[in-house]
Amino acid sequence: MKLDELGNLRRTHLSTEVTAQLAGKEIVAMGRVGDVRDLGGIKFFILSDISGSIQVTAPKAKVGKKLLTKIDGLTQESAVAVRGKVVAAKQAPRGVEIFPSEIRVLNLASVPLPLDPRGRVKANLDTRLDARALDLRRPESLAIFKIRHQVLQSVRNHLVSRGFIEVNTPKIVATATESGAALFPISYFEREAFLSQSPQLYKEVLTGCFDRVFEIGPIFRAEEHDTPRHLNEAISIDIEVAYAAAEDVMKILEDLIVEVFSDVKRKCAEELKTLNHKLEVPKKPLQRVTYDEALEKLERGGVKVPWGEDLPTPAGKKLGELIGGAYFVVDWPLKIKPFYTMPKEDNPKLAQAFDLMHKGIELASGGTRVHQEALLVKQLKQKGLNPQNFESHLQSHRAGLPPHAGWGLGLDRLTMTLTAIENIRECVLFPRDRKRLTP
Ligand code: ATP
Ligand code: MG
Repeated sequence: MKLDELGNLRRTHLSTEVTAQLAGKEIVAMGRVGDVRDLGGIKFFILSDISGSIQVTAPKAKVGKKLLTKIDGLTQESAVAVRGKVVAAKQAPRGVEIFPSEIRVLNLASVPLPLDPRGRVKANLDTRLDARALDLRRPESLAIFKIRHQVLQSVRNHLVSRGFIEVNTPKIVATATESGAALFPISYFEREAFLSQSPQLYKEVLTGCFDRVFEIGPIFRAEEHDTPRHLNEAISIDIEVAYAAAEDVMKILEDLIVEVFSDVKRKCAEELKTLNHKLEVPKKPLQRVTYDEALEKLERGGVKVPWGEDLPTPAGKKLGELIGGAYFVVDWPLKIKPFYTMPKEDNPKLAQAFDLMHKGIELASGGTRVHQEALLVKQLKQKGLNPQNFESHLQSHRAGLPPHAGWGLGLDRLTMTLTAIENIRECVLFPRDRKRLTP
């Protein structure tokens, strides 16, 4: 076995940079082998790389026997380097092909492969996720992750240009923040610790130091249920803003959402085409319905939800059909929101909290937070939590923590929405769910 097949050979062009204008020039392309075909007088194969693909054509009369044997030995998905001359050819895809003078097999793929990344043999999602390294070579997968990449770029641009500082908070923590979702315990030397469910408490404290912060990082939730929109490890885009209330951060969120949608529509037109999705950019201002109005609409639509309960999945779906697109649900019952949520001044049964929904799925939750120590202690107790466990957090409240508000927006769910992909696992490289810990 040769250890250094690449040697000092380097790629000169990506496949789609090879155009008929380069006819006669020698180039080096590198990528994966697609179908190898033998048409009697010629052998050819498709070479694919991140940019697209190019046909490599070897007329038997013109290339040496050694090269032809090499082509015969190629297996689908092998990594190869091809040195050759560019030839304008009407019959080839894109009107251009490579006439090879040298083919280096950099890594021969073992066949049969567990999955056909060209999708000709349909595989179910579990099989695809088991062979994710091959599955991610499918053009549709690439399109999803290019869109996800664009979302990250747009979010960072948007927030940085509005004076936000990007931060990273610890993911190994001592206490829960979202009382609803369960925690993953880990052993931390002599003690028990947990994987962080949310950067909530840290980002709140940081408003007193940096004014406006955002974080894009993992959240870990021991959700036991198996749904198309829950993962055990997800990525959350979190913001927190000093001297602000719910309505202020809702505006930031709707501006951000509209910008992300329009960026993706404009910059990822090819990818959206690959996914066969016509993206509609929501119009500002997004509709705001109160929790009470949502219950009324649902009841008129034949779905009854008792006051004070979260909207169960079928109700959320129904509401999505009734309202359509992206919308806010505001004025939630305080008792179903986390302990750090500020009650409404004129009706303390309600919370200064909102959810951003899109077609019935929750994309974000946020609101005004409690900055007064006494109220926070009261609400911790109401949730059955021990204020002593939150002592280091309460310290910042005693140190003049400013009034503040913020939200958490699920990146994976946002990607589902932008790509119209129905299972969140497809929008995550290596998803973690109750049953899946590898790859
Ligand atoms: P849900 O009610 O849909 O389970 P949640 O209200 O528990 O979500 P929040 O604590 O409000 O979630 O988290 C803020 C955002 O983070 C959610 O709106 C969602 O986009 C995302 N998120 C939360 N939990 C998960 C998860 N398990 N998998 C994927 N995304 C999640
Ligand atoms: Mg929520």
